[in-house]
Amino acid sequence: MSGAPQRVVIIGAGQAGGQAAYSLRLGGYEGAITIVGDEPAPPYQRPPLSKAYFKGEMEAERLFLKPLDYYAEHKVELITGKPATRIDTARKQVVLADGTQLDWDKLIIATGSRPRKLPIPGADLEGVTELRTLADVDRLKRLAAPGAKMVVIGAGYIGLEAAAVGRQLGLTVTVLEAMPQVLSRVAGPEIGAFYTRVHREAGTDIRLGVKLEAFEGLGRVSGVRLAGGEVVAADFVLAGIGVLPNLELAQEAGIACANGIIVDEHMRTSHPDVFAAGDVAWRPLVHYGREGRLESVHNAIEGGKIAAAAILGAGQPPLEAPWFWSDQFDLKLQTAGLWTGADLTVVRGDANGRAFAVFYLKEGRLIAVDAVNSAPEFIVGKKLVAAQARVAPGELVDKSISMKDIGARALG
Ligand code: FAD
Ligand code: NAP
Repeated sequence: MSGAPQRVVIIGAGQAGGQAAYSLRLGGYEGAITIVGDEPAPPYQRPPLSKAYFKGEMEAERLFLKPLDYYAEHKVELITGKPATRIDTARKQVVLADGTQLDWDKLIIATGSRPRKLPIPGADLEGVTELRTLADVDRLKRLAAPGAKMVVIGAGYIGLEAAAVGRQLGLTVTVLEAMPQVLSRVAGPEIGAFYTRVHREAGTDIRLGVKLEAFEGLGRVSGVRLAGGEVVAADFVLAGIGVLPNLELAQEAGIACANGIIVDEHMRTSHPDVFAAGDVAWRPLVHYGREGRLESVHNAIEGGKIAAAAILGAGQPPLEAPWFWSDQFDLKLQTAGLWTGADLTVVRGDANGRAFAVFYLKEGRLIAVDAVNSAPEFIVGKKLVAAQARVAPGELVDKSISMKDIGARALG
């Protein structure tokens, strides 16, 4: 490839960083690729950390995105256990914590995000944990002895998935959520009410609209004190209260940031030779005519592929509507699109059963779908969301009309 860059450095050995390297090689790039990661492991998938791996049903090696020999075979240099500490855009170098300097022609920042910390006294007590990395979940598994009292803070994806596993492992589980609804950031009230009921039926004590005051304990956490004085007993605590993008390296290098590193549709930052992808990227959300940051495997894979294509000078890969999933007990929640801004919600199926879907419309167009154990609603819904198709609410609620027919009519 004439005029192709000779050296690509990727900061962050995660879902987006790994994908960018694989896509560069798949696309025929023959120059040097170096991935720098601060964790000891090669790039791995995080979803099982709060699901099968936490439950003890999956080996660590199965988390890895590629077998270890992939990197030598494909001449991808993998530096693990070493954080990058500085980006020098004038010299086109990345500096690592041990002083190593890596030259680049093109740089991809895929540093992901980190858990938000609880700003209350006692947050540094032993037994107060978070869940982002393999090391975190290995620590959690040691704490999760049958009968132990687990208190989960935050009823988002992490909190509810871990709470479900906790019950399956025989723990006593309490979930403390600040909002009046579970999953409030990612789903509407129908889904929130459904999952609250499911978890309560499984024996979890779910408390909504809770305000925390402090963690109690001498050296080790023994309880969580709520506003009003009640103390919820805890052998250990898992906080899952959202994430913050790891954008400081970019900020310090003078690269433009909002609540994420600002990129264009090619994942190019304000520096023409620097790209960003994954949780850290503040990107155009083309289906919604606005910009934002997404936190999902699909977003990380898509961003990694787009950055690689831009570096290769290849065509833009096809864009899907954003999609997500969550496994809790025997329930698979599959989401396509972003529901905020909806002016009409339509439920298809029985929300008191264990298979139904919620469709979110805005000005007559489908903007999102949440499907519980309902694959056709998700698969067809995702296409309709990508097209922002006009769909008749009366057809969506009518189970005698198949999703295939609804899709065919709406998409013409
Ligand atoms: P990451 O995969 O986090 O990778 C970033 C890497 O960069 C990390 O290893 C980080 O330590 C490293 N790094 C940061 N700073 C530096 C530095 N200065 N130098 C070197 N390395 C650095 N999404 C779904 O779609 N479905 C799911 O079911 C799902 N389940 C999840 C379960 C859990 C427990 C978690 C934590 C996340 C889950 N997600 C899920 C979200 C999904 O895993 C993330 O959106 C995705 O991993 C983001 O990819 P990324 O490459 O941007 O970040
Ligand atoms: P999240 O989805 O943002 O949920 C955090 C929840 O905690 C929110 O409901 C939040 O309410 C609540 N909260 C915040 N501060 C609180 C407080 N002081 N007390 C009680 N509750 C509080 O984030 P997460 O569950 O921590 O997940 C972290 C990351 O992992 C995200 O990127 C997520 O997408 C990803 N993840 C994804 C999946 C999946 O896709 N299936 C699974 C696990 C993890 P507010 O809205 O008021 O802040």
